[in-house]
Amino acid sequence: MEKTVRNTKARRLAKILLGLLAAAAALLLVYHCPFRYIFGVSCPGCGMTRALVAAVFSDLETAFGFHPLFPLLVPAALWIGLRACGLLHMPRKRETAYILAFAGVFILVYLVRLLCGDPVIAPDPESGLLFRLLRAL
Ligand SMILES: [Zn+2]
Repeated sequence: MEKTVRNTKARRLAKILLGLLAAAAALLLVYHCPFRYIFGVSCPGCGMTRALVAAVFSDLETAFGFHPLFPLLVPAALWIGLRACGLLHMPRKRETAYILAFAGVFILVYLVRLLCGDPVIAPDPESGLLFRLLRAL
């Protein structure tokens, strides 16, 4: 009985998560960045895909213009891949410190880009869904 109730809750949660994932994927396909769609401001990762594409075509100047942290994705992807395959073991505290450092650098660079008026992440809060909803009230 308890197992069935837990199973039902797990299935319901899985359906909700799948629905949210589908909604996020649809937003990504239509608006590219769900964060920008909702808030009218680009997210810390905006420009990363364009930077990687430019880097693949050896246009590093353009790549750095789109996102100055794009080179960090290679070691991060390597780390995630090795960890997923069980080839990299690290103490939990050190791993957490690396993740926090990585996130901190992303946020710091994001703030600098915002304050310097980086055209890739030019804020336009009035175009965001949140602003439009609040205006409609
Ligand atoms: Zn974004």
